[in-house]
Amino acid sequence: MARSPLTSALADRLARAQQATADREIGALLLSPGADLRYLTGYGAMPLQRLTCLALPASGDPVLVVPLLEQPAALSSPVGDLGLAVLAWGETDDPFALVANILGSQTAGSRPRRVAVADRMWAEHLLRLSAALPGAEMSLAGEVLRELRMVKDAEEVAALRRAGAAIDRVHARMGAWLRPGRTEAEVGRDIAEAMAVEGHTASTFQVVGSGPNGASPHHHLSDRVIETGDVVVVDIGGAMADGYCSDSARTYVAGGRPPEDLLAYYGVVQRAQEAAVQAVRPGVPAEHIDAVAREVIADAGYGQFFVHRTGHGIGLEEHEEPFIVAGNPQPLAPGMSFSVEPGIYLPGRHGVRIEDIVVCTGEGAERLNASPRDLVVL
Ligand code: ZN
Ligand code: ZN
Ligand code: ZN
Repeated sequence: MARSPLTSALADRLARAQQATADREIGALLLSPGADLRYLTGYGAMPLQRLTCLALPASGDPVLVVPLLEQPAALSSPVGDLGLAVLAWGETDDPFALVANILGSQTAGSRPRRVAVADRMWAEHLLRLSAALPGAEMSLAGEVLRELRMVKDAEEVAALRRAGAAIDRVHARMGAWLRPGRTEAEVGRDIAEAMAVEGHTASTFQVVGSGPNGASPHHHLSDRVIETGDVVVVDIGGAMADGYCSDSARTYVAGGRPPEDLLAYYGVVQRAQEAAVQAVRPGVPAEHIDAVAREVIADAGYGQFFVHRTGHGIGLEEHEEPFIVAGNPQPLAPGMSFSVEPGIYLPGRHGVRIEDIVVCTGEGAERLNASPRDLVVL
């Protein structure tokens, strides 16, 4: 039977991860549930006290160690089609010894001197693995996988496109929820429900920053009642069933007339966002995109009110590399996906943020969000 595009992509990622592991003279990667495991196997394993761990040796066959009761879930994930060896352990087995034995058998009896573990492996798992692999030098798997995960393959870009379209459909309905007289928290609940309806399995965040709350970039929700004419920053995102994330921000006016002082700077943020998106192309350092957005805002006299980086990479995690920030020389490459989200925040008054996810292509940026960027008065 022909392999599905996803299965082929996963097999390709596993092969490249093994090569990268060998290149760094690391014996094996040990990946507990999280983005790295999902990237390589498609398995969105639940993080549990019982150990689930992919042992990926630099050469030889990878083995996925799972608790017996998780075996059906593992096999019904893309792991099944991938033909990955799955080794289930029972309640009285020692899964840490099992992992150590797998590594020993893969390398003719001698366990690897160096292993790299998932960046966010739980301490209780790490310490027991470390005890089961005495003398092994441990480092972070993220150092091996960052170059791979930063550049999305066609399957990943398609998944990010679906996530972008889903969050756009939620923004399109904002007029039904964002009404004067309602609280930010009520609006946030409606948004979370709509995100689920549009395919998100994790409605990770709903920022509804009305009036002065919009001047705090990471304000989430409060019981503040939205008033007519309020400027409201709405920044929402989460993960779809396949694990890929959405993240898009728009700034609305909740009925009435937009305040004069908003009109003075809304267009500045819009121009900064457009200029930064237009500056995206292969070879350009990530920090340049930040500088382009910052220059537009500084030239308009609002530089001190743009208080955060311009963007962050996005994929199986909401925030991952590359970070679009001063000091990051990482050259952009086709397949890199990240947010472009400049903002201006006027303390005590209101704020504006406009955020799209883009993918770097050979020619420039492809935007994955298409909601209107002109000021929308609901
Ligand atoms: Zn953030
Ligand atoms: Zn956002
Ligand atoms: Zn973001």
